[in-house]
Amino acid sequence: MLNYLEGLNEPQREGVVNTEGPCMIIAGAGSGKTRVLTMRIAHLIKAHGVDPFSIMALTFTNKAASEMRERIEKEVGQEARNLWMGTFHSIFARILRFECDKLGYPKDFTIYDTDDSKQLVKQIVKEMGLDDKIYKPNVVFNRISGAKNKLVSWKEYISNPLFKADDESARKPRLGEIYKTYVQRCFKAGAMDFDDLLFNTNVLFKEHPDVLHKYQHRFRYILVDEFQDTNVSQYLITKKLAGVHGNICVVGDDAQSIYAFRGAEIENILNFEKDFPDLRTIKLEQNYRSTQHIVDAANGIIRNNTGQLPKNVWTANPQGESIELIQAASDTEEGRLVASAIFEEKMRKQWRSQDFAVLYRTNSQSRSLEEALRRMNIKYKIVGGLSFYQRKEIKDVLAYLRFAINPQDEQSFRRIINLPKRGIGPTSVDKIIMAAGTRYDGSIWEAVCRPAEYLPARAANAVLGFKDMVEAFRYDATRKDAYEVTRRVAKDTGIIKMLYEDKTVEGLTRYENVQELINAVKEFTDNPEVEDKSLTAFLQEVSLLTGVDQDKDDDPDKVTLMTVHMAKGLEFKHVFLVGMEEDLFPSQMMLGSRKDLEEERRLFYVAVTRAQSKLTLTFALSRYRFGRLTYGERSRFLDEIGPEHMNLSSRKVHTSTTKPASELSFARISAPTKKPTTLGARMAGAKPHKPSEGFAPSDPSKLAVGQKVEHQKFGFGTVEALDMDGMNKRAKVAFDKVGSKTLLLSFAKLRIL
Ligand code: ATP
Ligand code: MG
Repeated sequence: MLNYLEGLNEPQREGVVNTEGPCMIIAGAGSGKTRVLTMRIAHLIKAHGVDPFSIMALTFTNKAASEMRERIEKEVGQEARNLWMGTFHSIFARILRFECDKLGYPKDFTIYDTDDSKQLVKQIVKEMGLDDKIYKPNVVFNRISGAKNKLVSWKEYISNPLFKADDESARKPRLGEIYKTYVQRCFKAGAMDFDDLLFNTNVLFKEHPDVLHKYQHRFRYILVDEFQDTNVSQYLITKKLAGVHGNICVVGDDAQSIYAFRGAEIENILNFEKDFPDLRTIKLEQNYRSTQHIVDAANGIIRNNTGQLPKNVWTANPQGESIELIQAASDTEEGRLVASAIFEEKMRKQWRSQDFAVLYRTNSQSRSLEEALRRMNIKYKIVGGLSFYQRKEIKDVLAYLRFAINPQDEQSFRRIINLPKRGIGPTSVDKIIMAAGTRYDGSIWEAVCRPAEYLPARAANAVLGFKDMVEAFRYDATRKDAYEVTRRVAKDTGIIKMLYEDKTVEGLTRYENVQELINAVKEFTDNPEVEDKSLTAFLQEVSLLTGVDQDKDDDPDKVTLMTVHMAKGLEFKHVFLVGMEEDLFPSQMMLGSRKDLEEERRLFYVAVTRAQSKLTLTFALSRYRFGRLTYGERSRFLDEIGPEHMNLSSRKVHTSTTKPASELSFARISAPTKKPTTLGARMAGAKPHKPSEGFAPSDPSKLAVGQKVEHQKFGFGTVEALDMDGMNKRAKVAFDKVGSKTLLLSFAKLRIL
């Protein structure tokens, strides 16, 4: 017997070995759906000799794909590298790269991220003379995105009276026009946004049957994980690809459908049965992930939804600890209770930081948790949020790289034409764009090559200088690998120099970030698994990283902080779900109807089912939201967990016992980042923290460059640079004994001398 089959129960094995024809597994969380999908692929290769090149597997994140690939590699060896595995976006971007000329796009088309797209929408709204308080870029972009994901083109949009009526009642009658201009501008710029990757794949398959035919024969097996969250556009692509051989296997859980707000269609599950009538459906009912307490609680929660397919999930795992409920006086206290609970559990159970996850409903909740974890010196990572590749300096360098590859890319052009400053002001930029449109058939590059024809001499000269530089990059990009080009771009544009000369702490961080980007490119070109080392290939990879994929630090032993949405498919020994309050979870913004409430409940179900051994739920009686202190009420969802599974915790904040003195490695410890609000302190009965003698957290307003200071651990030093922007005020101090250190002022205990 093939040994990977041994670790499967009967229905799982059925899902693995019946490789031919359509198959659907809709089953509860933790029942082994992803495992079945993985083993099915291994089985195809190992037992049936299927060529990995002809297998396509679609996952929620690229990270999930690479974990799957690793697991398969264990069974079948290096051949696993040839599998087509990844997110819908990354797989079909790859296919479009080969075929996009048929749709009139340049081979090196740019991929606009959401930020670029919203920027473009904003410009169009402005150019049309519309009010951007009514036509908010966010809202307009979401509307366009929604249309694309339902495969509604701008032409159909404009001619459909239903959309028109909708837009008129929303006081945005010109949305259709904006959609049209947006599409045309992207096309002229040789750019596709994320939704276009799927929309255009559909167009390609529809208008070019020969191309569809080619891929139908090429990919003989198609597999989709997290099927419940596919949208119409994604579903149609897979349906078409599987149209000839019918070897399609989809796995998912309707109870975990959490992206309806982004166009995911739970109806896809129902349609699948109609579209593939000889479907094999498999039920998995045994949960292998979680304790009985957790599985039973999760079942109880989802039973409150009327719209779910009935399932009977059970587990043979032990009963486990009951679910812990923590009530905190304030969000600050909530953060501290979570951090100290993690610290204690780590000690008591000898677990590692990576065994813990803290999940929340909205990104902004991470702040109080971060502060508390830092105080305790517990390493953490935030998944999602503002990622490395979205930082300004990184986007600037990437914009140069993108423009070098595709000199029609308007968004990149606008970013870099005067960066670093070369005397080309906004009026000149508008003139260039306008000239491109009126004189040179929409070609920005043409306009850049002939500035003398429409700009005054000085500006024209500056533009020509820019042109020469970019031309050299373009030349390099055709002959050298991504690393060589990136290094040259960072240097020749003057970006590196500009950041190097900026001696503020902020400038230093930016400089380091650009270096880090260069390292990332080097890693890419050095990777033996990467065949195509071109700049185009690198940029494509970067554009399609998802939140979970973006962790750039190698040390895996960290607590994970993320939104519940991001946690889909993952598992952790101990999960904390914080902010269990009315209006926060369920979210006030999403509660328009019963349907919305059910989606929030599914989200709650997803959160609860991430936990393997232990689940802790927390809520705070008061919290700062939108800059105001608000009073919360415990979430109605808490009442959906049977009392026999839950225990009210008696945890207290133990400020004195929580200091892991031996682990002190940095100045970031001891002093609280912010005093508990008087209210919070009163309600919690907590004492304000007493700083140790002589060393108070420095009052940032008293610091100045050149100031002599004393630090409790590092001794005497002189302030070299200050960064007083934003929340994390920092100082770079040259210490006499230990050299330069950058200190977060909210933590550092500095004495001003
Ligand atoms: P989700 O709905 O959250 O995506 P899932 O159904 O995809 O969950 P998996 O992630 O595949 O579930 O499996 C959950 C856990 O159970 C994993 O740790 C997996 O290794 C384990 N598992 C699955 N099947 C078995 C089995 N037959 N024997 C032992 N462990 C199993
Ligand atoms: Mg899964």
